[in-house]
Amino acid sequence: MSTTTLPTYDIFIDGEFVSPAEDRYLDSINPATGKAWYQVASAGAADVDRAVRAARAALVSPAWAGLTPSARGRLLRRVADGLAARAEDLAMLETNDNGKLIRDTRALYGNLPIIWEYFAGWADKVGGEVVPTVGTNLTYLRREPIGVVAAIVPWNAPINLASHKIAAALAMGNTVVVKPSEITSAGILEMMKILDEAGVPRGVVNVVTGTGADVGQALVAHPGVDLIAFTGGTSTGTAIAKKAAERHVPVLLELGGKSPNIVFDDANTSNAANGIISGIFAAGGQACTAGSRVYLHNAVYDEVLDKVKERMSGIRLGDPLAAETEIGPVAYEAHMNRILDYIRIGQEEGADLTFGGNRVSEGDLASGFYVAPTIFENVTSEMRITREEIFGPVLSVIRFDTEEEVVRQANDSAFGLVAGVWTQNVNRAHRIAHQLDAGTVWVNTYRALSPLAPFGGFKSSGHGKEGGEYGVLEMTRLKTVWVNLSEAPTADPFVIQK
Ligand code: NAD
Repeated sequence: MSTTTLPTYDIFIDGEFVSPAEDRYLDSINPATGKAWYQVASAGAADVDRAVRAARAALVSPAWAGLTPSARGRLLRRVADGLAARAEDLAMLETNDNGKLIRDTRALYGNLPIIWEYFAGWADKVGGEVVPTVGTNLTYLRREPIGVVAAIVPWNAPINLASHKIAAALAMGNTVVVKPSEITSAGILEMMKILDEAGVPRGVVNVVTGTGADVGQALVAHPGVDLIAFTGGTSTGTAIAKKAAERHVPVLLELGGKSPNIVFDDANTSNAANGIISGIFAAGGQACTAGSRVYLHNAVYDEVLDKVKERMSGIRLGDPLAAETEIGPVAYEAHMNRILDYIRIGQEEGADLTFGGNRVSEGDLASGFYVAPTIFENVTSEMRITREEIFGPVLSVIRFDTEEEVVRQANDSAFGLVAGVWTQNVNRAHRIAHQLDAGTVWVNTYRALSPLAPFGGFKSSGHGKEGGEYGVLEMTRLKTVWVNLSEAPTADPFVIQK
């Protein structure tokens, strides 16, 4: 039992909030104030084991396995209704937890029910198919639940990212153990109350909070887990994939990015400037989709960049709960220091720092974790600030002249998550979109996302899809069944059957 006067969150196992096996709790810090505002259980391997056992038991329980697909769909819709009723609370909670703007979290969580409704619609629509084999066989395919899904999520949009995994998994009849980021646990735990009120049977969704070292690793290694659905950093994804390989457990990896945002000479420069701002300064650049490498055609270089700088000069940095704020704090102190380190590295590498580049700590912002929007020019492809994910409001700007040159530079990256293309030429738009190594390409828009559309990266940005039918099918295993319909004597046993 925690002894603090702060609000305290326990872990959620088998339909109840329970204390962790070891009596340990972590402070959760509000990044706008630098102060602890709740405590959350710092669980360990014993708690993970309990949660996975609960999820395994629920998987075959009549209360869950006995539900018809239509009933599962109705249940997910009830969750959607519960989330709609609590959208404002969830938005406030996440803003206090990770510093995302309240206007952004209101938009994110106003739309949260859509995720649940979308996957609810799939609950009774995924069937099998019959394969046209020759001979006397009936050969058919079954889509079955995979089993217990470990959903491991980061801090930058925790309730949203967890919802994609949980709703898709439940739609297909799986059960889930969620591991939130230790930076932002409260929202996902609050969501469990809504699932419970909606009637999700006990053990179907469990949440174990704590660090990656204590909880994440134990969950990945647990023999009762059948699929690991991970969103987070690329190096963590690599460690998880290696561990999972020891047990041959499938992994879905939604990892980091260093995404190119390309502006051609025929682009609408005002829209492109807004797309650049949305790509790198919205959410303080703390988005996997951050358009952190901007490629500007020489003919529009000054015009576009002047528009970006003009808009950013009047930017309102401050309290993320204030309606007029445009950039809030970054999520936690160590992360702020990492971003500031990268700004120093960029200067040491010889890039020109032409905008921002500092911590902002005047007046009310003194104890919060604020970084000024930052622009580097005269950047080369070799610099670390062009190659590594910073996950903050730091933009590298590069000039180009030809399509061939910009496609080569854009693809010269370990990552392949998303890309932006700004042009009025429809032929060029499609031509470039087809050549880019990115799981999602946006043409004349940026940061457009929907649960209806599959999302997932190439190369070091991961593999597997979330969203759309493809994301739903990731939550199933495919079984092939052969049935011999013939009454005739068995064929030659030494010859392969067909
Ligand atoms: P992170 O990799 O540090 O942590 C992610 C989660 O993994 C946390 O819950 C953490 O506790 C857990 N974890 C850490 N080590 C672990 C281990 N060894 N085994 C199991 N779990 C472990 O990432 P972060 O800093 O929380 O989030 C930022 C990263 O997430 C960025 O790289 C960003 O690009 C990425 N991200 C990707 C997407 C996407 O859809 N591709 C979306 C959002 C964020």
